[in-house]
Amino acid sequence: MISRLLLGVSLATGLLAQPSTVLALKPGRDAAQAIDEAYTAKIREYTTEPFFNSPLTDYLPASKTVPTPKVVLGDVAGAPGILPYSTEVYKYMRMLERATPRVKVFSIGKTEEGREMIAVAVASEKLIAHLDENRARLEKLGDPRTIGLNDAEAEKLVAESTPVYYITGTIHSSETGAPTALMELAYRLAVDDSAYIRFIRDNIITLITPIVEVDGRDRMVDIYKWHLANPGKQWPNLIYWGHYIAHDNNRDAMGMTLALTRNVLKTFVGWKAQVLHDLHESVPYLYDNTVGDGPYNAWIDPILADEWEMMGWNNVSEMTKFGMPGVFTHGTFDTWSPAYLMFIAATHNGISRLYETFGNGGADTEERTLRPNEYARTWFKQNPPLPKTKWSQRDNNNYEETGLLTALAFFASNDKLFLRNFYLKSKRAIEKPKVEGPAAYVFPADDPRPGAQAELLQLMHLQGAEISRATQPFTVLMAVKRPAGRGGRGGRGGATDENRPEEKPKPEPRTFAAGSYIIRMDQPYSRIADTLLDYQYWAPNDPQKSPYDDTAWTFGELQNVQVARVTDLKVLDAPMTRVSGEVEATGEVHGSGATSLINHNADLALITLRYRFANASFDAAEEPFEAVGHKFNRGSFIVHGVSADEMNKAAGELGLQAYAVDSAPDVKTHPLRAARIAIMHTWMNTQAEGWWRMEFDRLKIPYDYFSTQTPAKTEDLRSKYDVIVFGPGAARGNVATIVHGMPMYGNPLPWKTTALTPNIGKNDSTDDMRPGLGWEGLEHLQDFVRKGGLLITATDTSNFAVDFGFAPGVSAGRGQRLKVIGSALRSKLVDAESPVAYGMNDNLAIFASNPLIFNVSNMAGGGGRGGRGGGGAGARERPTGRGTADDVDLPEGRAPAEVPEEPHAELWQATPLTDEQLRNGVNVIPPAQRPRVILRYANANELLVSGLLDNGGELAQHAAVIDSPLGQGHVLLFSNNPFWRTETKGSYFLVFNAILNFDNLNAGRKLASR
Ligand SMILES: [Zn+2]
Repeated sequence: MISRLLLGVSLATGLLAQPSTVLALKPGRDAAQAIDEAYTAKIREYTTEPFFNSPLTDYLPASKTVPTPKVVLGDVAGAPGILPYSTEVYKYMRMLERATPRVKVFSIGKTEEGREMIAVAVASEKLIAHLDENRARLEKLGDPRTIGLNDAEAEKLVAESTPVYYITGTIHSSETGAPTALMELAYRLAVDDSAYIRFIRDNIITLITPIVEVDGRDRMVDIYKWHLANPGKQWPNLIYWGHYIAHDNNRDAMGMTLALTRNVLKTFVGWKAQVLHDLHESVPYLYDNTVGDGPYNAWIDPILADEWEMMGWNNVSEMTKFGMPGVFTHGTFDTWSPAYLMFIAATHNGISRLYETFGNGGADTEERTLRPNEYARTWFKQNPPLPKTKWSQRDNNNYEETGLLTALAFFASNDKLFLRNFYLKSKRAIEKPKVEGPAAYVFPADDPRPGAQAELLQLMHLQGAEISRATQPFTVLMAVKRPAGRGGRGGRGGATDENRPEEKPKPEPRTFAAGSYIIRMDQPYSRIADTLLDYQYWAPNDPQKSPYDDTAWTFGELQNVQVARVTDLKVLDAPMTRVSGEVEATGEVHGSGATSLINHNADLALITLRYRFANASFDAAEEPFEAVGHKFNRGSFIVHGVSADEMNKAAGELGLQAYAVDSAPDVKTHPLRAARIAIMHTWMNTQAEGWWRMEFDRLKIPYDYFSTQTPAKTEDLRSKYDVIVFGPGAARGNVATIVHGMPMYGNPLPWKTTALTPNIGKNDSTDDMRPGLGWEGLEHLQDFVRKGGLLITATDTSNFAVDFGFAPGVSAGRGQRLKVIGSALRSKLVDAESPVAYGMNDNLAIFASNPLIFNVSNMAGGGGRGGRGGGGAGARERPTGRGTADDVDLPEGRAPAEVPEEPHAELWQATPLTDEQLRNGVNVIPPAQRPRVILRYANANELLVSGLLDNGGELAQHAAVIDSPLGQGHVLLFSNNPFWRTETKGSYFLVFNAILNFDNLNAGRKLASR
């Protein structure tokens, strides 16, 4: 046993950031403990170069009682040709649990498809026997209010406590190495008697979730088995990972919609763990990306940035000394977005970490050739990877395990420092109102969308934030926003207003009604609330030119919920009570009568209600009206044929206010139908549409699900469906791939349930993933629209609809210098009478990432914009000649001729037709068939809500959402993506309105006279 005193010295003096204990602990086997000779020989055989291994993993200690991974795998961890299913990995972990008191397995929840997730705790038998007592102490450190923020008390708890280091593997299903590495790691931690491993075992609790994306793992193993059974053939791409989401499963830590994210959060927060370390495999050979690059997330405690550096550089240092090439930290990953799974730790007073090791996407040993930027030596990568090498899964496992073991040893030798930091970060989170602020976020009681408000508060609750509710009105001073025109940056360079004095508006009092919700910032998890609810600003001239992911998320804006950031400390004295459990929107039926009136406020429960009573008769009011003393928005629901009992139950469960009346109000209406929906996907990419599908399921909207191969085989789509939703992200490169599919050079690529591949072919199946929509499918799809169907498209599928003639009069392009990378932008309502806009308010924030720039025209083929595109409004063109820019030219030697007024239109409008265009106007689109713009982007000076916007003038004022008629039907085109990672709930009803009103989309339309 290594002396604890030895460590204590350097820590207590505080002179050394990195105490010398790890160095004192010689890595390598204990000569007194026998090794498993056969296993060790295989490790050596499968490691392709001696320097791809370390003294920590180049042997396996033997045990008479504890089984090695070989009993389940049939070979060693990382052996070629072997990828275990989740059940095999769990079987092994449970064998370990039975064989040694140093291992305990916990079930932490189920996936969408019902597969189990586990967490495996490994530590000395003494620590394992007292997990609960230790957790109770960590809970106190994690909530310093329980000890009155008493540092001396905390110090006592630190002395008695053991930290928890949580490791998660294989969230990304094509990154396959972690499960076997973690099986072997658990064995080593439980069995190895070397001083190094014993030190880890005695001083920290290692918690392991070997597979995060369990559904995707089992599908990946299927694909790999198919590959082994079909040598020489190309294998199908892993099109589905989880039930809905592929790679983006690592972007859910804000929205918390996936079971895997919720289960990991519950485990991390429930254990009061100090670290969440997530394993990935896409960079040679080990990139600890948590140090990464700037800009760092602006809401983390700076102590965390220091912890990243300490741990990252220790990793690099130790592995460099082992002679292992290609280990580095820093690199291109910026740490701005808090959406990554590991970031659960960063926003909950822990330490987030992430490794990228090098994987082959399976268990084949292969010759791997790197790109120059991958093998280049840089200032942070002094011993870079080799340009070319043979690489095996065992190599990958060696790196993963060696990295983790050095990290665990470093953490164990600094256990008290990290526990003290954990306490300190928790305490500083509580002290936030008085230090950096804000004091609270307030959700006003009179938000017109109580359902949306409740959903956002439910998310905050899920994230661990405490929510209170005001019992009386209260007044606080609020900062006043500067007038519009200051904050936004339209085109760069133009709008420096140096002449305007820097007047700072005085704070003004604002009174919030009783019933308003308050998220106080004097709580341990204040940072997650602050991160999600605040605004983001990414400077266009930031040194980081390639944001790694979204630059904005501002949940209040994107979910269309009113959120007030309050810095006035008086808010904390408002009379309030803590809300226990989740916030629910309350609903009930007022009055009695056979007809129910429900205001359209775009709360998502409205569409659930429609499909709950699919057979009842619903009408939509085409104008606002007043009844029973209440105002109802345009589009409000008038429901007949639902019994009072059923409506009462539904209103209560869905949080809707319904008003029962004897007869319908006197207002123009049209039927609001429970449309028959299909969601269509390609076989090239299903991730972006997966977010749509997930929300349709959550809101209980029924739909059929098919691929672009189905329309080719279906003569009359219209007889089966009213609406086809073709979500974004469907193409691979050019939108023509939607028609052509994948190249047909090689063998067919099946996606089917078979004995060999029992886990795939469930969402959808095909004998061959390669064919696309085809020309016949394209014709059938157009026929569907012409016969009265509605096609809904977004970003690249909108581009597809434009390019393939679904939307005459609409043209679409991309910005030249425009930079919008996952930002929130302001929109303006252009046509409030369109059913698509029912219940929507003006100034909605919409999410956009490199959005399409639409132009509309009254001419088929999109003609008639006459050089306006992209330039920005204003500059009238005049020919070269006499006079100033505003004058007209006057030819000499004749009387001046009258110059006719040029037709003028705003950027989101079609230019009015000229007489010349109307002469034999073959291309003139009849008024009723012209594109109808519903939403547009705001003016340049108010376009940016949150995130990064550069050269916004290219996008400003252009149409954002267009209803384009075709024959009897319609195409609804989004230039952006309204369903993004469940962050954009404020935009959903644009889609839902279109669905419910699919056969009355022309309601409220004003037609041009010619
Ligand atoms: Zn990954």
